[in-house]
Amino acid sequence: MLRDIDINEISDGKRYTKDDLVCMGCNDCDGCHKCCTGMGDSITLDPYDIYELTKGLNQSVESLLSNALELGVVDGIIQPHIKMQGKSNQCSFLSESGRCNIHSFRPGFCRLFPLGRIYDDGSFTYFHQINECPYPNKYKVKIKPWLGIPNLKEYEQYIIDWHFFLKDMQNFINECNDENLVKTLNMLILNTFYLTAYTSDKDFYIQFYNRLNNIKQKLSI
Ligand code: SF4
Ligand code: SF4
Repeated sequence: MLRDIDINEISDGKRYTKDDLVCMGCNDCDGCHKCCTGMGDSITLDPYDIYELTKGLNQSVESLLSNALELGVVDGIIQPHIKMQGKSNQCSFLSESGRCNIHSFRPGFCRLFPLGRIYDDGSFTYFHQINECPYPNKYKVKIKPWLGIPNLKEYEQYIIDWHFFLKDMQNFINECNDENLVKTLNMLILNTFYLTAYTSDKDFYIQFYNRLNNIKQKLSI
């Protein structure tokens, strides 16, 4: 999601890479679930999140969209996000005891928090949103184990490729005056990367890049 903010106001002013230490350790959240509540539509899901969720829960994306997820528009592009619900306006996957029911395959946004990403020059660095997590006695942890994502190098390259593909699409949509074309493009992206089921026992990245190459061919980009 594009945000119009001064990064120095919300961060410690530093940029980090996956092997750096950041002072954000929170003792496995220690009973807190603040960032699983009242998040609105901000927990946007990327294709890897959908692959992980459909595989981990053994449910189709359509089934997930009928309860735990919903569609929204992020910078002009239709994408799924986690639904907040109930009196306490909490994540659909938060248990009654305040723990994440899908911890081992939780979305990238949840793994990242309270880190964010800044994209620059065809790549990105991490930054620490210092006011987001109220845990009082934070300690230093390395980003790589904090994220806990296998093949992190491959994942980071995929995040870059996905981000810049979306950015190209957003730029096109922002300049396009043809509503039907914008709708058609949105449906193509939604169907290609989200609604068409991934094969859970096949490598995600092979499936993703096949789809990315196909759509780029279709769009001649
Ligand atoms: S706000 Fe911090 S301590 Fe609370 S659940 Fe989120 S990461 Fe954990
Ligand atoms: S998926 Fe898990 S970690 Fe993420 S907001 Fe929901 S309960 Fe919290």
